[in-house]
Amino acid sequence: MLIDSYNRKIDYLRVSVTSNCNLRCLYCMPKIPPDKKIDENLLSFDELFLFVKVAIDAGIRKIRITGGEPLLRENLQDFIRMIFEYKSTVDLALTSNAFFLKDKAKALKDAGLKRINISLDSLNANKLKKISQKDVLENVLEGIDEAIKLGFIVKLNTVVLKGINDDELISLLDFAQSKKVQIRFIEFMENTHAYGQLNSVNCEKILEILSKKYNIKKQEKDTSSPVSLYKIDNDYTFGIIEPHSDEFCNTCNRIRITAEGLLVPCLYFDEALSIKEAIKNKDIKKASEILYTVIKNKPEKNKWNAYKEKSQRAFYQTGG
Ligand code: SAM
Ligand code: SF4
Repeated sequence: MLIDSYNRKIDYLRVSVTSNCNLRCLYCMPKIPPDKKIDENLLSFDELFLFVKVAIDAGIRKIRITGGEPLLRENLQDFIRMIFEYKSTVDLALTSNAFFLKDKAKALKDAGLKRINISLDSLNANKLKKISQKDVLENVLEGIDEAIKLGFIVKLNTVVLKGINDDELISLLDFAQSKKVQIRFIEFMENTHAYGQLNSVNCEKILEILSKKYNIKKQEKDTSSPVSLYKIDNDYTFGIIEPHSDEFCNTCNRIRITAEGLLVPCLYFDEALSIKEAIKNKDIKKASEILYTVIKNKPEKNKWNAYKEKSQRAFYQTGG
């Protein structure tokens, strides 16, 4: 079992398989020109899998594939199948912008993927184009429908941006309800790679907006997840991810690995150690030592709340 220095059980690994993306969301990677491909020294799936096995053997029970846009990586289903065949009880999930999902969902399902979280920041095509800097709504909606049709557990993620999509929270919640999937509203996390003029909307304000239509009751916190859950009268549950609160860090159960093999203990922090050399040398013992060191050094809290600073870490590298 992996326990960090603050007695948090770490059983969730997020694996980024590429930093590249077909979109340029304002809060993520707006400064990289749309046609520019980031040069990457990627670990192969076989190499990433060597580390994944170390992590599973040490106690990781949930793995989420992310990016950049993970569906840009060729034959992603092969990597998913490797993990599924190694330990079928691992909760295997993906986070995607869903642009390519319609065509890829079936292969992912057949490989053993269980859950997909899909980013959906607006239901208005022009607004979504403004946020993601590409005309994507139709493809995203088709991807959502295909994932639901195939029986995936689907959740929607909405980053709430002041003056941009905070007028759509009720319609997004209604949409998620109509599809019988959970939506989670995410407070924008300030970072140096994002467009400079963005402002976050905090959890309190999100609840105030939704209260115009709904009676909302907070649910007891699930201690194994940083998401706060709320119920409305008909028992529909939605979530709010509030990294600016202490609760978020108290229940953090995760570590991240980038597509180039950097093990990142906290979404905010810069301290990270590379397992690349160990993996290239097939030195499992060393990779395991680095994993334990990173978990031991996992900080107690991020700095969004206490210091009101901007993280220097790019979400498209750490995978959100
Ligand atoms: N491309 C995929 C997607 O967009 O779903 C996966 C990678 S993306 C980096 C993972 C998650 O991070 C998405 O839900 C995205 O909305 C979220 N994210 C990215 N930048 C963020 C920021 N500055 N603040 C809050 N959430 C952010
Ligand atoms: Fe791409 Fe996801 Fe970042 Fe948007 S949030 S630019 S879809 S990696």
